[in-house]
Amino acid sequence: MAAKIIDGKAISQAVKDEVTKGVAELKEKTGVQAALAVVLVGEDPASQVYVRNKGIACEKCGIKSIEHKLPADTTQAALNKLVEDLNNDDSVHGILVQLPLPKGLSDDEVLNLINPAKDVDGFHPINVGKFLTIKKYADIQASGVFLPCTPHGCIELLDRSGVDLNGANAVVVGRSNIVGKPVSLLLMSKNATVTIAHSRTKDLPGLIKSADVVVAAIGMPEFVKGEWIKPGAAIIDVGINRMPPKEEGGKDRLVGDVEYEAAAAVAGCITPVPGGVGPMTIAMLMKNTLQSATQFAAKK
Ligand code: NDP
Repeated sequence: MAAKIIDGKAISQAVKDEVTKGVAELKEKTGVQAALAVVLVGEDPASQVYVRNKGIACEKCGIKSIEHKLPADTTQAALNKLVEDLNNDDSVHGILVQLPLPKGLSDDEVLNLINPAKDVDGFHPINVGKFLTIKKYADIQASGVFLPCTPHGCIELLDRSGVDLNGANAVVVGRSNIVGKPVSLLLMSKNATVTIAHSRTKDLPGLIKSADVVVAAIGMPEFVKGEWIKPGAAIIDVGINRMPPKEEGGKDRLVGDVEYEAAAAVAGCITPVPGGVGPMTIAMLMKNTLQSATQFAAKK
């Protein structure tokens, strides 16, 4: 295997260690205890796991975690009221509503209600719009805008692995609002020349063959083939696909959107699944919560 493995576990731990230090320093200097409120509606098993993991990460970083668990039959009005109460609570710096919401509740309505200054998921149109209008990555970071966690995590992985994005040809496969679009904008803000591919794209293998950087966010197991990869390219695999066990009685497997072994044989560096982008999402959430608490303390 030729490629360097981009170790998302180690890099996410480094980010969380920085956050832990920052949270302690903020408390010491200003008395502000960083706090994240997570709202979970219903009993979706995957969402329960995500919320639990966020709570554990908060605890490790010294961030106060406030969990609100509401039944699946919660009304939109009750959910909106909770978000408004959290908006008005000065001891809460970040608000995260775990998606997807149960049927009958509107994701958009509740996300738009979150105070943009507490929108640590980076999904509020004000944060999306602000970051869209700033050209350079350094200026985006200095602006105090909240970046969405998974796309920001992809950039952090590339940065901390020493991948030079300046003038690089980047191909992002996927154009979703939560991954493809924002990661494309962030790559462009780092001076990459970005092509966004999707289900109607012609000659995806040819496009990928020209890419110095590939970000795959499709949701289809091992869709990007090793033979499409340009030798030496950096590969960020966002995909998380649950597959049945290889042997009877074995455990389910998680695979990415890239044919890992074959791609790793030619790439310069690559993220594994699991252990690549996945752990970065929560680490960047912790970073955003510290950023929010710091911005709150500066306004006190
Ligand atoms: P979406 O389903 O919202 O978007 C998938 C994108 O892939 C769409 O833009 C779609 O194109 C494109 N696509 C589908 N088929 C093809 C094809 N044949 N050729 C080229 N492009 C295609 O997914 P998400 O962006 O939400 O998630 C993508 C993956 O990332 C999933 O596996 C998800 O689980 C994972 N993920 C991982 C996270 C993490 O923390 N690591 C966080 C978020 C997501 P079109 O728009 O034309 O339909």
